[in-house]
Formats: sequence, structure tokens, C-alpha cells
Amino acid sequence: MEKQFRELLAKMNAYSSAIKLMAWDLRTGAPKKGVPARAQALGMLSTEVFLLSTSDLMETCLCDLEKMDKHESLDEIMKASVKECRRNIDRVRRIPKELYREFATLTAEAESVWEEAKNRNDFAMFRPWLEKIVGMTKQMIGHLGYEKHPYDALLEDFEPGMTVEKLDPLFAEMRARLVPLLARIKSSPQPSTIDLETRCFDPEKQKAFSLKVLERMGYDFQAGRLDASEHPFTIGITSGDVRITTHYDPHDVKSALFGSIHEGGHGLYEQNIDPILLDTPLHTGSSMGVHESQSRFWENMVGHSQSFWISMYGELCSYFPEQLNDVSSEDFYRTINQVSPSLIRVEADELTYNLHIMIRYEIEKALLTDQIGVSDLPRVWNEKMQEYLGLTPPDDKSGVLQDVHWAGGGFGYFPSYALGNLYSAQILQAMKKDIPDFEDRLRRGELLEIKDWLVEKIHRFGKLKSPGELLRDITGREMDSRCLLDYLENKYAAIYPVKESCK
Ligand code: ZN
Repeated sequence: MEKQFRELLAKMNAYSSAIKLMAWDLRTGAPKKGVPARAQALGMLSTEVFLLSTSDLMETCLCDLEKMDKHESLDEIMKASVKECRRNIDRVRRIPKELYREFATLTAEAESVWEEAKNRNDFAMFRPWLEKIVGMTKQMIGHLGYEKHPYDALLEDFEPGMTVEKLDPLFAEMRARLVPLLARIKSSPQPSTIDLETRCFDPEKQKAFSLKVLERMGYDFQAGRLDASEHPFTIGITSGDVRITTHYDPHDVKSALFGSIHEGGHGLYEQNIDPILLDTPLHTGSSMGVHESQSRFWENMVGHSQSFWISMYGELCSYFPEQLNDVSSEDFYRTINQVSPSLIRVEADELTYNLHIMIRYEIEKALLTDQIGVSDLPRVWNEKMQEYLGLTPPDDKSGVLQDVHWAGGGFGYFPSYALGNLYSAQILQAMKKDIPDFEDRLRRGELLEIKDWLVEKIHRFGKLKSPGELLRDITGREMDSRCLLDYLENKYAAIYPVKESCK
């Protein structure tokens, strides 16, 4: 039975690799006329993998391998694989097939309705669709079950072990310190920054510099590549083929650069999962939040640090001598770290990004527990934006309609972004204990030891360890918000003359 189980996993993995390669191609320049047929083929192959993962054969294999004597003879990886497949099949089988199918069709169609509604700035157009999606999500929660809070049933999909009971206090602490910190920054004298958007940066040179940075980070170009796409993404086709993309804009040098570093962080994770986990459900990140912690760590803790630019700024100037001839590395550092509340989440800075997530988390919880209805969304959204960020969106396009997640039925996903930030700060603190000359290394542009530390402590385990286990093994503690808040307060106190520390 173990042999059959392994063969089944290998088959699912082969399909998944094909799906990922086709999806990568679709998003990086497949000919337009080939798109409908490709989308159809992708749908059919994805259904095939889904059917295999919930098949009678899978159930038979699992039942057999769960028998006491058989189970004892399995190695640790097989034991964990059986557990993961069981978790998945039980979850999926709890939802009636009809509801599953209806939800998949509804959300696929809703995404295009959302896109049009957003372009037309017409929430009323999207409203009935969202009402159906919320209704079905509630039905699913009913089938999935939960112990304390309905939202927990959704969190389990993205961040196993995370609950509202754990998240609420974390977010409350963040709110209690970030909102006043933002107010202080807004009222303090603004440091001098550079208007980079008025300058033109050749995309070819941007790419060359991105490649340079990725090479320094230890991204393996024998096992990956960097391409261009509208929205940056990472896709791990196999362990020897992990591709990343970025988006080039001649008037926004930050976008491609930090897009590359962010995706490079995701890519390093996927490239360095122990090959022993290949063809098992464990050859992936521990959770969405942990994956995001790796991209945020490189993008923010490394890429937005002053030490990093002490080593890299000269190099950047060598690519863009005319564009940057009047800009010092300090000016550049302050410019890329400017805090400015914005209406759009994906454009937010390192500090306010977390507030955008908290708004969505609160709204999702309220929607799914009937404290608000879909028709209340535009009003509630705008009120929370004012409360957290001091801004009121002028229209729904730049407000409640901005994210695709709800149209795709992705309730429960948003917290992963903030969790990534929280993890990354705790990881940084632990790393600095092991690498006391961390800042000196950054200043010298030596990033490989940082990468090796992440591989050793996080990457190689794939999904063999849960997010909680990883964090406890690395830091000896549970998740907390203090590390991130201290980090942000210290960082911005140096950039913005904040008079007192805001504890
Ligand atoms: Zn990411």
C-alpha cells in the first residue's frame, strides 16, 4: 500500500508540475489567442488533481497506512505525508460535492464581474455576487466546523493552527502602537526625499540590477529564472525549477527592484526545501504566513535597510549614473522608506500595510458572523479607512472594490500578509543572536550567510514543521507582536524625528 500511496503522490505531483508550467506560461506572455484553450486545459488538469487527492484510492491508502502496525513502520516523512493527506481529504469531503462545484463556478465568474465593477466603480453591480459568495462561505464553514469562532474554519486553510483567539490580541496590540506611531510620523517634520518618479530608468538596466541583487541573495539561476509579468509572482514547478517574475516601470525603479527581492525571498524558500520531500505533500512552504515571512524578510528587513544600501547603492548608481547623480545613499534610503498612508493596500509602505490588513480582517469577521451585511461594506470600509489611516476613499474603486480576494472566495487569506510581517521580525531577532555581525555583513553586501541561516532553520523543512513548531524552534517563543512593533518604532524614530518612543 505504501508503494501505491507513493505512486499516487508522484502522479499528483506530475500533474501539478504541468499545471504550474502552463500557468507560468499563461502569465508571462502566452499568445492571446491561445488563452481560452489553455484556461480550459488548466481547469481540467486541476480537477484531475483534486479528484486524485480525494479519491477512493487515496482513502484506501490512508486507511491502510493509518493502521497501528503499518504506521509504526513508516519513516517520519511518510507519517507526516499521511497526516497531511488525511487533513486535506477530511476537510474536502466534509463539503458536499454540489456546494464545492457551485462555489468554484460562482467564484470563477465573479472574478470577471468584480473586474468590470471595479473599472466602472460600481459596487452595486458586484453586490449580488458577493452576497452569494458570502452565503456559500458561511455554508462551507457550517460543514467544516470549528471550535470557537467561525472564522477559524477559514484560517485553517492558510495558516494551520491559527485562530481568532490568537489573532485578535496580536492585531489589537499592533493597532494600539501603530496608529499613534503613524500619527506622530505624520505630524513630525518630513525628511528630504527624492522624486524618483520624474526620472526615467531603463527597464533593461533595472533587470540587470535585479539579477545582481538576486545573485547576491543566493538565488540559484541554475534552478530558476527571472521574467516579467503584470503582477509579480513565484512558482515552484519542481525543486530544480523555481521561477520568479517582476514588473518593470521606467518611472518606478522601486517596483521592479523590490518586486524581485520579494519574489526572490519566496523563490529561495522553494529552491531550498530538502529534495527528500519531493513527491510528497510536504514539498511546499509551512503556511502562507511563513512563506510571506520569507519574502518580507528580504524585501523589508534586508532590502529596505540602511546597511544594505551602504553596500548596494554604489552599484545601483553604476547602472543609473545620470538618474542618481544628485542623490546620496541617505536620500535614497529615506525615499524608499517614506511613510505615507495610501488608499491602496498593494502600494502601502512597511508600516501602514499592516493597518490595511487589519481593516480587512475585521470586516471579514463581521461579515461572516452577520454583524454587517454586504450592503454595508462600502460604508464600513470607508469608516475603518478613516479610523486607521486617516483617509476616506473618494470612490469604491479605490476603496472596497480594490482587492480580487473576495471575488475569488478567498476569505481568511488576508491575515497571512500581516502574519508574514510578524514572523519576519521574530526571525530577524533570532538571526541577529546567531549572526552578531549581521549589520556589518549587510554593509559589506555579504548576504549568503543570511540565506544559509534561513535554509538551515526554515526552508529545508518544507511543510514538515508547522508554523508554530518552526517559530518555537527558532525563537523559543510563541508568536508575538512586540518584535515587529519595536522594529518599526526604532526604524522610523531614526528616519522621522519622533520625539518620544511610543510605547
Ligand atoms: Zn509574497
